Amino acid sequence: MNTRIGVRRKRNTKILATLGPASSTPEIIRELYENGADIFRLNFSHGSYADHRSRYQAIRSLEKESSRPIGILLDLQGPKLRLGTFAAGKETLKAGQSFRLDLDPTPGNKDRAPLLHPEIFAAVQPGHELLIDDGKVRLRIVSCGSNYAETVVVNSGTVSDRKGVNVPGTILPLSALTEKDKADLEFGLELGVDWIALSFVQCPEDVIELKTIVAGRAAVMAKLEKPSAIDSLDAIVEQADGVMVARGDLGVELPAELVPVLQKRIVRACREAGKPVVVATQMLESMIAAPTPTRAEASDVATAVYDGADAVMLSAESASGAYPVEAVRMMDRIITSIESDPLQRTMMNAVIHRKNESATDAICAAIRTVADILPVVATVTYTSSGATTLRVAHERPRTPILSLTPNLHVSRRLALVWGVHSVCAPDVGSIEEMVDNAVRAAAQHGFSVPMLPLVVVAGTPFGVPGSTNLMRIVWPSSTAASIAGVSAEELATTEPNSGYRMRDPYFLPIGSE
Ligand code: PGA
Ligand code: MN
Repeated sequence: MNTRIGVRRKRNTKILATLGPASSTPEIIRELYENGADIFRLNFSHGSYADHRSRYQAIRSLEKESSRPIGILLDLQGPKLRLGTFAAGKETLKAGQSFRLDLDPTPGNKDRAPLLHPEIFAAVQPGHELLIDDGKVRLRIVSCGSNYAETVVVNSGTVSDRKGVNVPGTILPLSALTEKDKADLEFGLELGVDWIALSFVQCPEDVIELKTIVAGRAAVMAKLEKPSAIDSLDAIVEQADGVMVARGDLGVELPAELVPVLQKRIVRACREAGKPVVVATQMLESMIAAPTPTRAEASDVATAVYDGADAVMLSAESASGAYPVEAVRMMDRIITSIESDPLQRTMMNAVIHRKNESATDAICAAIRTVADILPVVATVTYTSSGATTLRVAHERPRTPILSLTPNLHVSRRLALVWGVHSVCAPDVGSIEEMVDNAVRAAAQHGFSVPMLPLVVVAGTPFGVPGSTNLMRIVWPSSTAASIAGVSAEELATTEPNSGYRMRDPYFLPIGSE
């Protein structure tokens, strides 16, 4: 087995890498993982079920081999609206001319085209704009009815068969879940994916609809890519388990200069609420074709890290580009560099965390005080639903978080979360066992420094979600080393932040549920 497998990452911000034609073999997936990918995205806008299944299986066998939980996110395509076809395949429209869209499926010409989405005609008003092909052609509505819209062409350009249509600023009476999405969802849940991403979320009800179907079998991420979603940002954040700033489609529906404003607003709303947030799309775009990014792209990844986002995402860079492994490695290097800048912490901590009136949040606040007084090397969390670990991560503590859960699904979901080293470990029955196992896990995963304290957070009775009520400060002694099966010297030379190669890994064997 490769020696890099199973080690601890030396950074807090996670990397979400999309798999695609450039990253489908088990060898490449393993390289992406070893070079820093923490969670993988299966993008259901592309690829066959057979493609997704084989990528899924490659990740799970890698997981088994490394004994580390790895997250898998299924990204649903959502209601992507499209033009119908043209008799000539395409037409060039001139600025100022009129152009009609309607429900007549007859192929279009230079004067009209089919747009077989009655929901659009039901929702738009004169003055609204329709954007064709990522905004390359803009049409302003002059008049409209229940089955047509008369428009004037705002900028010249070519339209062709089945090009995408965006309707910015309008809430369409459309579910974010299409029939294709429902089938893809069942397929993915059957496989066992850990996160489901919902595209083109418009309102909190979209998230609730998906959560009702998923029924706890996976965590749900809302992709914010429609400006109308921003009107109910807080309610969407509250309903979702996580959020993606989907800057690709957001940048089609909005002028480019507003995308950073919304990125900051969304990241802040998630940080305040303690919901994991991913910054996505075009982060290292030029690495699709080149082995190094532009300085501006490096700076874009850096911005997300300075803001304290949980994860940064690669799309085409890792899915279909020429340098998928280099892109992951570059992201890893940028994150590591930014996290070593003292200014990063100052900037990240500028967000005021909203606290709930709960024992968990009270304990999380206490951990901060303990770490100000004692040289704490790690916080060990016992969690059954993942909530305790999330609330500790919400605080963005200085010391690493070692999250222990007996639930394999939860351990995989937590792979996305800032600062969390997620481990699937057997449940404990007593406080003594809790302390012993925490000390052992900390030693085996490279978190332990002899004679320096660990903070352990748990709930009694053990294994009951929402019962967090206990914080324990533990000083591992040389006995920790003997429990871990490593020599005290070896442990003493292990820097708190270095990757420590595990021996006799302390896990539930992954894949043997
Ligand atoms: P997509 O979503 O890659 O599925 O379109 C991300 C985005 O729009 O930014
Ligand atoms: Mn999108």
